[in-house]
Amino acid sequence: MVHPYRHERIGLATIHAKELAVAPPFWRLLDAQIVVAPNVDTDSLGTFSGEVPRPAPVVETCAAKAELAFRTLDVDCAIASEGSYGPIDRVPLNPAGVEVMAFVDRRRGLRVIETLATHRTNWRLMRFKAGDPGVPLAVKALGFPDYGVFVICNSDGSQPVKELACLDEVVAAVDREASRSEDGLAMLIADMRAHRNPMRMKVLRALSWKLARRLQRLCPKCHTPGFGHIESRRGLPCEDCGDATHWIDFEIDGCAACGHAVGRPRKDGRLTASKLSCASCRGD
Ligand SMILES: [Zn+2]
Ligand SMILES: [Zn+2]
Repeated sequence: MVHPYRHERIGLATIHAKELAVAPPFWRLLDAQIVVAPNVDTDSLGTFSGEVPRPAPVVETCAAKAELAFRTLDVDCAIASEGSYGPIDRVPLNPAGVEVMAFVDRRRGLRVIETLATHRTNWRLMRFKAGDPGVPLAVKALGFPDYGVFVICNSDGSQPVKELACLDEVVAAVDREASRSEDGLAMLIADMRAHRNPMRMKVLRALSWKLARRLQRLCPKCHTPGFGHIESRRGLPCEDCGDATHWIDFEIDGCAACGHAVGRPRKDGRLTASKLSCASCRGD
């Protein structure tokens, strides 16, 4: 059976060269072609540097961003991605992120979302006074110049300084933005735009493979692409007393078009959970 997306042109809404991450798996796994949508202002839907607030929760924003491709390209399918990075609440010094990638097929009325959580990021936010001698070291620690950085006035986030080309420019921007800030501080943050952040591009590549692999799989009932994991059911019985634990009991794969769903056992073949994970056996 020929896959429905073979030779399909799929629009990609990006102004940050994400096609470098997305195109290879779609070509290799689906024989589909990724086409970058021209004149799409994805920054209108929210930016990393914070001057445009995001209009909706990240999954909705991401699907809306994909649909921007339909305005400028004659395609039925489109992709966009959306990342959010920051400190973890419990461990403020260990930043982490979540990447969301949305695939929309308007002909079939299909939306497939894949996500990837990661600790692999150079995301950092630091604040400096004008003339702080620690700035050059902090800028280098962010990976600059292979990785981009933004400088933002601490009391006015509306004009982030982007496209800084050399260390002297970054230092000058920190001094200038700190001087005009009400509290005398400038923020220095990692540029998370894909084309200025090789580590993020790597994460996007992994997520693109995940999405293409999911679309490769057809629903056994209606043959719509994108059959795959939709839910994990917890409650694997305790090895000792048989009570339900918080361990995953089985996984459910489903179809976004017809609702067909199939349960599948754990990959590791376990039928019982360790009694160490059992609330009854531990007596709590
Ligand atoms: Zn037990
Ligand atoms: Zn189906």
